Amino acid sequence: MAGQKMLKFTKVERDMPEKRPPNLRKEDFGEIYAEYARDKAAEQASRCSQCGVPYCQTHCPLHNNIPDWLRLTAEGRLEEAYEISQATNTFPEICGRICPQDRLCEGNCVIEQSGHGTVTIGSVEKYITDTAFEEGWVKPIRPHAERSESVGVIGAGPGGLAAADMLRRQGVQVTVYDRYDRGGGLLTYGIPGFKLEKDIVMQRMAQLEDGGVQFVLNCNVGEDLSFDAIRGKHDAVLIATGVYKTRDLPESGAEGIVDAIDYLTASNRKSFGDDVPEFDSGELNAEGKRIVVIGGGDTAMDCVRTAVRQGAESVKCLYRRDRANMPGSQREVQNAEEEGVEFVWLSAPNGFEGDAVTGVKVQKMRLGAPDATGRQAPELIEGSDYVEGADIVIKALGFEPEDLPKLWGVDGLEVTRWGTVKADFNTGATSLQGVYAAGDIVRGASLVVWAIRDGRDAATAMLEYLGQAANVAAE
Ligand code: FAD
Ligand code: SF4
Ligand code: SF4
Repeated sequence: MAGQKMLKFTKVERDMPEKRPPNLRKEDFGEIYAEYARDKAAEQASRCSQCGVPYCQTHCPLHNNIPDWLRLTAEGRLEEAYEISQATNTFPEICGRICPQDRLCEGNCVIEQSGHGTVTIGSVEKYITDTAFEEGWVKPIRPHAERSESVGVIGAGPGGLAAADMLRRQGVQVTVYDRYDRGGGLLTYGIPGFKLEKDIVMQRMAQLEDGGVQFVLNCNVGEDLSFDAIRGKHDAVLIATGVYKTRDLPESGAEGIVDAIDYLTASNRKSFGDDVPEFDSGELNAEGKRIVVIGGGDTAMDCVRTAVRQGAESVKCLYRRDRANMPGSQREVQNAEEEGVEFVWLSAPNGFEGDAVTGVKVQKMRLGAPDATGRQAPELIEGSDYVEGADIVIKALGFEPEDLPKLWGVDGLEVTRWGTVKADFNTGATSLQGVYAAGDIVRGASLVVWAIRDGRDAATAMLEYLGQAANVAAE
């Protein structure tokens, strides 16, 4: 009986794959967690209690069939586990690495709530798909029949790529446009290699290209090619351009004060072996410098840990609330601390010193009474100002959408008051007929797994739209 292999959580302790020691992982941009050995993956999967109502699945944005692929892994039936896993997730090996599992699937595992430590869902998901690639179980995309309809996807991030994958599998002609020279969006140029190695992303790019998805790279829509031209070329269009406008600080134009996305992109490009003049000149290279990162989200965590690996003299993270109230993942804070990052909690910037920056003027804060949302607002502590010395200051305060209707000259494309594209929650349909939207450009800065979900939902809706349009044409 299947259950015999399962329910081991009372006897088997939770065990993550081995984490490389900080002194070694600081030396390179390789991922910090090793892969499970086959027996270990099976053992850890066997801890699942096969809940009748699996909260892990409910809280996974893709509603992955987690209990089934855990059971199959525990039984050594890995190829079947892979088939089930990939049925709901276009990029399981990526989600297994970078989903904030503590807030999603694993954070809602009943075993965790009963005090035994959550099933290591993300690590097993990664293991299953990495094995599938190694064993050749990941089949090329070969549609049963080609269709004449075509879709233009603007943005090669996880949202656009997930949609491209689904549409292509149904034989639709898909062209993906991106302003960068490589696909992957933030998977490629935002998220550092120590969380997601780049060959993992490029492996998916190769699979899509091999399956017939056309990529038009180095094409900034709105500049190199108009939105209307893309709309005129295709039967439907998906906007999946993400959000890239950096939230700014007043008077932060001095030399040495840089945007997080520029800093991370330069570092990721270096890892690809590209020529990066701003890195080579030292402008975006932390080596030997005092680095101060402003912000408390995951982008800030990626910046501090990148600076450590570049050989910074010191790395400090300023955040205006305390540890318990920061938006970033606690797991990442712990990783950063292990690697030598110093967190300066309850500290807000109040200007900068130097024409070429020499320091950040810091105001100390305390947490006041909770506001309407229950979150404690930071309050200033008068007379507590000091200067934190810095050679490079990195602004990591979050991202906002660009003004697409204006940038692209498209009046009919409705946006929300936050500037995100207004789109139907289930289908991604926008105010323009045949135009859909997915990912961060709809949600605001969010997560990879939500971009995948949106891309898949939009692809399903687009297939229906294309089918209806074809029927009308045939009548
Ligand atoms: P993106 O990934 O941003 O892709 C959009 C693509 O559109 C880009 O390739 C861009 O070049 C292209 N584009 C934009 N405008 C144009 C144009 N005019 N013409 C042509 N192409 C255009 N999420 C997690 O789940 N886990 C993490 O650990 C995590 N870490 C993160 C770390 C950082 C530093 C950042 C910035 C984000 C992180 N995120 C993380 C969030 C996650 O990366 C995003 O939510 C996700 O990538 C959004 O996917 P997307 O497809 O909507 O957009
Ligand atoms: Fe968990 Fe993310 Fe995988 Fe869903 S996709 S099971 S949330 S790691
Ligand atoms: Fe298994 Fe935990 Fe999901 Fe229950 S909630 S099915 S124990 S992984």
